[in-house]
Amino acid sequence: MAEESLKPSPLLPTFARADLSFERGEGPWLFTDRGERYLDFGAGIAVNALGHAHPHLIEALEAQARKVWHVSNLFRIPEGEKLAQRLVDATFADTVFFANSGAEANEAAIKMARKYHAVNGQPERFRILTVEGAFHGRTLATLAAGGQQKYLEGFGPKADGFDQVPYGDHEALKAAITPETAAIMVEPIQAEGGVRAIPPQCLRGLRQLCDEHGMLLIFDEVQTGVGRTGKFFAYERAGVTPDIMSVAKGIGGGFPLGACLATREAGKGMTAGTHGTTFGGNPLAMAVGNAVLDVVLAPGFLENVERTGLKLKQRLAELKDRHPSVIEEIRGEGLLLGIRTRASNVEFAAAAREEHLLSIPAGDNVVRLLPPLIISDADVAEAFDRLDRACGRIERAAQKGAAA
Ligand SMILES: *Cc1c(COP(=O)(O)O)cnc(C)c1O
Repeated sequence: MAEESLKPSPLLPTFARADLSFERGEGPWLFTDRGERYLDFGAGIAVNALGHAHPHLIEALEAQARKVWHVSNLFRIPEGEKLAQRLVDATFADTVFFANSGAEANEAAIKMARKYHAVNGQPERFRILTVEGAFHGRTLATLAAGGQQKYLEGFGPKADGFDQVPYGDHEALKAAITPETAAIMVEPIQAEGGVRAIPPQCLRGLRQLCDEHGMLLIFDEVQTGVGRTGKFFAYERAGVTPDIMSVAKGIGGGFPLGACLATREAGKGMTAGTHGTTFGGNPLAMAVGNAVLDVVLAPGFLENVERTGLKLKQRLAELKDRHPSVIEEIRGEGLLLGIRTRASNVEFAAAAREEHLLSIPAGDNVVRLLPPLIISDADVAEAFDRLDRACGRIERAAQKGAAA
């Protein structure tokens, strides 16, 4: 361990990486180069929706790799038209733009909302309301949309056109609307922000506000989408639909893929030449995206995610009762769950890692559990045992600290 930390890495040190590397994976398990097994309840930050080495995804990627990898968007890509049609059929949307990441999907969403008002003869309507604690990506525009000072610091003036309102304050949101407001952009559940859900009635309230003011409603479902909450998309819980929605993470099952979905009306300004991408929607990504949907949209799959999510949430509530000095609150829907800890979330995630369970810290002192959507009841039981031991570790460390 000491030897390895001495070895310098050529990577730009923008991540505080754990000293672990994985050689292969299988379902919800990852195996290190030393042959140790970890239960992966982080899924590469909600990306490996079907776990590791899913046979159907491997087959789709291999088959496409033998045909054609990349042709650019100067030509028709049948796999992409098929994937877009399936997304349109299964959601509110009429049209889809493919990108490679969540931030790019959001960039497309932001540009689309601005263009919509411009082609309506109101180019001054370009500002977008977002919620404090949001996370929309790390590009200059999506950073400004997220509005988190710690991420904006040192990168020059914040991109104009984004106004933040406090989480959960409907009146402040109403007051922030001006004749320049183009759209409201929210995550139905703030994931990086600490698994903070916007209640369904509030999402309905946002829809109503947008309709009253001629604004567009943008849902960032980069993390909540593609089955993560037990629905195909989280907006289904609220019974309202957005005008524009960004998707990424789970939709590629580990292959980089993002998408911006929209109604025909919201997308009407995005004509030939208004936006572009070299890699977005390439045949490899499209083949994998279609394979992910084959599994996620198969009868019973989402119901099973919902059932497993409830089971896991119940077990976490039990864990909270067993360890009240460590766990304060359990949050979330489906398999996007958060443990608000009384320790530090980084310490909690480290203790879980000692027990060979991977989790992901988030804001608000929360640790996220984002397991692959294919986990079994046995995996839930295994996670419970490991988390139980991790809590024990934290309790013992606190007792030692108090005694010293
Ligand atoms: C991860 C995430 C993003 C950014 O996605 P990248 O692929 O890292 O660019 C945007 N919005 C939400 C809600 C996310 O969870």
